[in-house]
Amino acid sequence: MNTIQLLDKKFALSISEEEILAAIDGVAQKMNADLKDENPLFVAILNGSFMFAADLMKRLDFPCQISFVKLASYHGTTSSNNVLELVGLNENLAGRTVVIVEDIVDSGLTMTKVIDLLKSRGAGKILISTLLFKPSALKHDVELHYVAKEIPNDFIVGYGLDYDGYGRNLKEIYTLCESGVER
Ligand code: 5GP
Ligand code: MG
Repeated sequence: MNTIQLLDKKFALSISEEEILAAIDGVAQKMNADLKDENPLFVAILNGSFMFAADLMKRLDFPCQISFVKLASYHGTTSSNNVLELVGLNENLAGRTVVIVEDIVDSGLTMTKVIDLLKSRGAGKILISTLLFKPSALKHDVELHYVAKEIPNDFIVGYGLDYDGYGRNLKEIYTLCESGVER
């Protein structure tokens, strides 16, 4: 079996590079049809989405812009009211069609927060694209418009996604081996 070791854990190859790129082809085709007259701003959520954003953008053939942002959490006035902010988003969003570019949607919490932040900046239509989606982990009511690939509720790394900062450079996707140990 094709396995790798990252820090203390073993991961097995689960999605090949060809399969990832074919899934992105599908999403890009749909966007090329849907968004050609929308002049959208793509907002890629760092760090995880950098590879997906790059391969997706190469496949789009209509006028569009992209901005890379980070979600940062600041301590509010009390310990319970941490404030989330989108760092690095300097564009004027007023009335703009915004397409979020995310690596993976798990519970959906991150996406609900990003949507709220974009709405508060005046964004018009907000669409979500994600490389990966774990349908069985979803807990928040969030509509996903462009899903490249659905996966089971397992922990994965590679193609931008990390385990403790490692594995983002892998061009395939790997799934954590049961109990983290190869059998
Ligand atoms: P959510 O807010 O939807 O529960 O989680 C989304 C975030 O959790 C993703 O942007 C990603 O950073 C992280 N995440 C969720 N599942 C995985 C996974 O299987 N592997 C990695 N590396 N990160 C994950
Ligand atoms: Mg993420």
